[in-house]
Amino acid sequence: MDFEDTAEEAAYRAKVREWLAANAAEYKTPYEGDVDLVVRGKAWQAKKYDAGYVGITWPKALGGQGGTPMQQIIFNQEESKYWVPAGIYAIGLGMCIPTVFTHGRPEIIQRYVPVAMKGEEIWCQLFSEPAAGSDLAGIRTKAERDGDGWVINGQKVWTSGAHRADYGIIVTRTDPTQPKHKGLTMFIINMRAPGVEVRPIKQMAGASEFNEVFFTDVRIADDHRLGDVGDGWRVSLTTLMNERLAVGGKPTNSPDAHSLIELARAIDAEEGNMLEQSHVRQKIADVYIQDRGISLTRMRTMSAISSGRTPGPESSISKVVVAKLMQDMGSFAGDMAESAGLLMGDDASSLPHLEALRQGYFWSAGLRIAGGTDEILRNIIAERVLGLPGDIRPDKTVPFNELHKVVS
Ligand SMILES: Cc1cc2nc3c(=O)[nH]c(=O)nc-3n(C[C@H](O)[C@H](O)[C@H](O)COP(=O)(O)OP(=O)(O)OC[C@H]3O[C@@H](n4cnc5c(N)ncnc54)[C@H](O)[C@@H]3O)c2cc1C
Repeated sequence: MDFEDTAEEAAYRAKVREWLAANAAEYKTPYEGDVDLVVRGKAWQAKKYDAGYVGITWPKALGGQGGTPMQQIIFNQEESKYWVPAGIYAIGLGMCIPTVFTHGRPEIIQRYVPVAMKGEEIWCQLFSEPAAGSDLAGIRTKAERDGDGWVINGQKVWTSGAHRADYGIIVTRTDPTQPKHKGLTMFIINMRAPGVEVRPIKQMAGASEFNEVFFTDVRIADDHRLGDVGDGWRVSLTTLMNERLAVGGKPTNSPDAHSLIELARAIDAEEGNMLEQSHVRQKIADVYIQDRGISLTRMRTMSAISSGRTPGPESSISKVVVAKLMQDMGSFAGDMAESAGLLMGDDASSLPHLEALRQGYFWSAGLRIAGGTDEILRNIIAERVLGLPGDIRPDKTVPFNELHKVVS
């Protein structure tokens, strides 16, 4: 394992840093408001595209750069030092578009991929349903053949960004007489098509980032199918693999042990300054140790990528630890501020890092679920890293429309 960039990586990092310093420095604060986010996001994406920083690892024939995964990681690391509005493309370019260009027909790839790379169209991922999240193969949204196309009926939930998306990738059930992993088919869906209804879900921190999406007799042309009929499970694995390979690292501008130190130093409680108290010092040491553990685990993953290997399931460890750590740090910061009578009001908002720690607290509850819950990731670590026996899956070979007989 090596902690340093290779000569080529260092040169690429220097080039990226120079470009970001010239182009990203204007983004100093988190976005305010949804419309602003889309307008600013589109402008930032177009700038990145023109400079050759979109689709860094994708083939040149698609408008990508034909670069290495390390170059993509380096760009992500450097970009995350700025408050750039890049998040609205994370799902589309990170998961949907790789699925489109791996499984779509050539004319469909040409229609959608370059436009998405420039940021002109936004995408969402329509997988989860009220009764199918961790068990993605349990989805019920139906796609039925109708002439040379398909008709979709059903519901999705927790669809991040559906309210601003132009297109989505959707997993549907096309054959309920097959076992649950076999009767699925994936499509590209136009989010503005008649019969698509997006209903935002209000989150506890106030924003509405996710949605319920309802489909009533929505028509999709057959050329918008991704992969073969009945092959939707394999196609969705492309999406999930890309989701799990997102190893850019915790944004460098997000709170860490040093944020807690500065916050503690700024709070004088009745018993004295927070930083002088032993339970505070112990907590900060604990956060620091976990943070270092995460960084070193990520370095291990990056070393694997840098030397041409594919990172293994051990990258699941980072997410389990990061999400819980963010939640603990936010909760501890709140406790410190509260014990000094500073939870609300102007005094509290002027405390260093408190607002960022608080936002991290709200967001981390979702992070413990998104992209695999803590329990599912622990199962992956147990089965694929530690080699323990697998989960019992009695429903794997039963036709989907007879599953009730197994579970009842
Ligand atoms: C921030 C965020 C963004 C999201 N964005 C999207 C999106 O854009 N598109 C999309 O399709 N979905 C999205 N989701 C949904 C997400 O993928 C699901 O919430 C997730 O897969 C969990 O599924 P579930 O909520 O149905 O919980 P369930 O699968 O019903 O799980 C309920 C509980 O049971 C546990 N459990 C389930 N199975 C097992 C098992 N075999 N062993 C041990 N424990 C188990 C789970 O860990 C959990 O604690 C998002 C979710 C969040 C929080």
